[in-house]
Amino acid sequence: MIIDQEIKVKAMYRNIEHYKSIGYEINKGMQELSVKVEDLPINSHLKIKIRCDYCQCMDCIFERSYRDHIKHQSKSSIKKDACKNCRGLKIKEHMLKTYGVESGIAFHYNFLEK
Ligand SMILES: [Zn+2]
Repeated sequence: MIIDQEIKVKAMYRNIEHYKSIGYEINKGMQELSVKVEDLPINSHLKIKIRCDYCQCMDCIFERSYRDHIKHQSKSSIKKDACKNCRGLKIKEHMLKTYGVESGIAFHYNFLEK
């Protein structure tokens, strides 16, 4: 899950229009603004902090660019984030949800039996 609720972004010519169009008030000369993470443009390279949905440990918070995060979420049927240690759990869950088995090997056997 994304930990940051809001994130500071530099007000730049090319992103100001985006934020204005979704209702942010931007004053002239503003250098920085706080925006909700979900309001970032989907191709934003800004790093967001993510906590593992499995162990939820505060020590394994990792960073990922918002753009990669969106990509990850759209690719996977499991809308959860996993740290390095828990990646296996996520794969298991994905296999279970997609194929009804826990691992690729089990999938292989099931497939052969049919
Ligand atoms: Zn974890």
